[in-house]
Parts: sequence; C-alpha cells; structure tokens
Amino acid sequence: MNGFLPYGRQTIEEDDIAAVTAALTSDMLTTGPRVAAFEAAFMAATGADQAVVCSSGTAALHLAMLALGLGPSDTAVVPSVTFVATANAARYVGAQVIFADVDPDTGLMGPDHLEAALARAGDAQPRAALPVHLNGQPCDMAAIAAVAARHGLALVEDACHALGGRVANHPVGDVHFSALTMFSLHPVKAIAMGEGGVLTTNDRALAATLRRQRNHGLERSPEGFVNVEMAFDADGRANPWYYELPAPGFNYRASDVLCALGQSQLGKLDRFLSRRRAIAALYDVLLAPLAPVLRPVPRVAWGESGWHLYPVLINFAAAGTTRGALMRALAAKKVGTQVHYIPVHRQPYYRAMAPDLELPGAEAYYARCLSLPFYPTMTDDDVRRVVAALARHLLS
Ligand SMILES: *Cc1c(COP(=O)(O)O)cnc(C)c1O
Repeated sequence: MNGFLPYGRQTIEEDDIAAVTAALTSDMLTTGPRVAAFEAAFMAATGADQAVVCSSGTAALHLAMLALGLGPSDTAVVPSVTFVATANAARYVGAQVIFADVDPDTGLMGPDHLEAALARAGDAQPRAALPVHLNGQPCDMAAIAAVAARHGLALVEDACHALGGRVANHPVGDVHFSALTMFSLHPVKAIAMGEGGVLTTNDRALAATLRRQRNHGLERSPEGFVNVEMAFDADGRANPWYYELPAPGFNYRASDVLCALGQSQLGKLDRFLSRRRAIAALYDVLLAPLAPVLRPVPRVAWGESGWHLYPVLINFAAAGTTRGALMRALAAKKVGTQVHYIPVHRQPYYRAMAPDLELPGAEAYYARCLSLPFYPTMTDDDVRRVVAALARHLLS
C-alpha cells in the first residue's frame, strides 16, 4: 500500500457501523439508553465511580471548570505544552491561567514545574491545576498530588492522550490522584466517537453538577427543587413537567448515536493498544540507527503510556535541515507528521497576558518534537516506509 500515512487516524470496523445504524433506527437519537450504557462501560473500563459523557473533550474541560466552581477571581495552572483547549477552559469561566514549564525531553509537567508556577502566581494562589498526560505518557501523579495537597489545589487530569494508560497500579481515569479526569474521543485519539468527551470522578456531587451543567443547567431531581409551591402538588408529589434553573448551563450533551459508536469502540481499546504497543516497539528498533540526531521521546518510569502518539526528538541543526524542510520532504513521500504542540504561552492571546514569561523546558521540547504516523491499522511495512523516508532526509 502506498497511500498517504497521516500522523493518526481512527479505526472504524463493520460492527461499529452496525452499532451506529441500530442507534439511528431506534426511538431516541439524543438522550436514550446508549448514553447511560456507554457511561457504565466507561466506569468499568477505568474503575471510576462516575462517568459523564459530553459533546467533546473541550466541553469536558469547560464542565470541569464549572463543576469546581472556578470563576474570574480564580487562577488555574496549565502546562504550556498542550492543546490550546486545556488553557482556554479556564478562560471560559473567566479564570486566569498560569503556565507551567515541562520536562524538555518528555514534555510532561512535573512536581517541580508545578511548584515553580505556584511561586510565580504570588498572591493569586491558584485553585486548580490541569496536568496533561502528553503523548499518552502519564504525569508523575503521586508527586503532583502531593504538591496539590500542600497548596489546596484541585487537580483535573487532561487524559485526552492517555485512555488505556496507567500510573503505578492505577488505570488513568480511576481518579485516584485527582478530582476529575477528562478524555476526548475525537477520531485521532485512542477510540473514536466523532466528537465526544468523557469526565470521570469518584465524587457524586461533582458528577451531579457536571450532569446539570451539560443539560442547560437544569435541575430535574425533586430533592434539588427550591420553588416548592410550583414544584409539588398538594399531596407532596413532584409535578411531572417541572424543572428548575439554578443557574444557566450549556447544551453539551452527547447523542445516543455517537454513544453507540463510543461503546462499540471502547470494547476494542485493548486490541488497539496492543497494536500501538507493537508499532512503537518496531519504531524503537528501526529508528535506533538514527541516534543521536533522532531519538524517541524517553519513557517515564512511573506508569504506562496510552500510546496516543509516537513523537521523536530531532536535532535539526545537526542534521543540516529544518523541521519545515523535513515535514515537506516527508509529505512528498506521503508520510504525514505533526508538531504536538506549539507552547500555548507563545500564542498571541496568552502572550499578551504574560509578555515576559520564559519556559525553557517547553521551548526545548517544542524545538525538537515531531509526531510520526501512528495508529492501529498501520502495517509493519508502513512503519519501515516512514523510517526509510526519515533516514533518507536526515542522513543524506
Ligand atoms: C484533543 C485534546 C483536547 C480537546 O478535545 P476535543 O474533543 O477535540 O475537544 C484537549 N486536550 C488535549 C491534550 C487534547 O489532545
């Protein structure tokens, strides 16, 4: 096969299509039985007590900020090497963002980076931090949780890359080290829902707030009603039409149709993961001769990756090239690559808020990183083709 190899792509199979078709011909396209069924499957897969599915990972991040009650007088710590959505979520509720630096080789925020960001915040005393499990590798959550406990920080794990990963003996998503963990089921991630997100938590009150906020902010359980006269009839029973609005929320619901796809895909997570693991192992072997100009991002000791991306670090100057030239040469050979990520503190919107901020770890990671094609349906020959194209450009 000589088609274009993107840096990532979904794997949709016949039974996924059948699951979606069945949902499409059922009675409920929006909030039907498949939403709760998918949430139950997600709890089983992660070991969390509660799972709340929503319309995207970005919606999940926003819901997390709302559920923690962050607002304009609050500050959240976000590592600079992440997708912009992690930082934007804090801004949606008016909170300030303090960017943390990351390890120059793994791109992960460590406990020292978090401490340094807190010290920089001064009197602003952040209420929350959002560790990002970049590329699928988990942050050192035990150490980060210890820092968070000392400073009274609520932790929200951005696990969009890390479904199927582990920290010590804990599956990512069991929420052992944090208040909330969130996932994206965008097609390029571990499993695809089209657009979709999931939050997990072990806190029932937080889960109830998340559910209310994803559905316009509406309170539908009689125990929560305030307007007793309107809510209940003379014999004390809740009126069947009644709902209440304590505060406006959003329509961040996930449809029954997409939850059918999510649940079907979730059943394949282990199989997808083991193929990703095998591809990574093959890349490791085939890329070894390109060291020291190119080497894979080093693996952390405290957990197992969810293998979202296969990033390498390249010394472009030593290879006598630039990242742009390499990406264009690879694209001409039908090999797609991507940069994850441009440090968010360098984006004009955030730069304007902290013009002098320097994060050398984030810069060093960004200067060298490149994500190679990596997804379950890649063949071993595809992997060889990628490595051959890299070698041709870097060693010539
Ligand atoms: C994909 C992603 C998001 C956003 O998820 P969407 O479902 O695309 O909204 C947030 N953070 C990280 C790290 C991501 O990779």
